[in-house]
Amino acid sequence: MKLFDFHTHWLSAPPGEAIVCLPRHVVEAPEEFLPQPGALYSVGVHPWWTADDCERLLVGAEVLCRHRQVVAIGEVGFDRLRGSLERQVDVFRKHAEWAEELRKPLTIHCVRAFDVLLRLRAELRPTVRWTVHGFRGKASLACQLLEADFDLSFGPLFNAEALKKVPEGRFHVETDDSGLSIEEVWRRVALAKNQR
Ligand SMILES: [Zn+2]
Repeated sequence: MKLFDFHTHWLSAPPGEAIVCLPRHVVEAPEEFLPQPGALYSVGVHPWWTADDCERLLVGAEVLCRHRQVVAIGEVGFDRLRGSLERQVDVFRKHAEWAEELRKPLTIHCVRAFDVLLRLRAELRPTVRWTVHGFRGKASLACQLLEADFDLSFGPLFNAEALKKVPEGRFHVETDDSGLSIEEVWRRVALAKNQR
């Protein structure tokens, strides 16, 4: 069985075996999107990109998220350490709307803003899956997010106790921008899961 990569920035990941997050220059100029046959993509305005004026990126993301090969919306979300949280919330709301309209899941980047994320979830009551990607939080936060019906995705670095809390079917594995192979990340995850 091929190991699926839930979230990667590696554009030449084997088609169909990964969800490739489109880079900024493509979101800025959707005509540069050259989908590979059979490949799966996600598109969103990353919270770091909201530090500058991101109108053009929003227009691009809205066009691209409708593409048949774009199977997830994101990454989008919050980073309290970079840029304006207020603007990130506005951008997030737009993506959450597209996700509902298009029935596509949302992939979320969240740094030190889980209170904001949980509040938005309670307010918006999404019907599509919302997944926090690159989750590195503790077990208590994992439990809180699972309770609120989030899925979690784990990259090369994670808290092993948190990972053990996530039931089958609620977690994903990803390479993100690590440069590691998905086999290596799955190996680390499996090792941690099986450790007592
Ligand atoms: Zn990423």
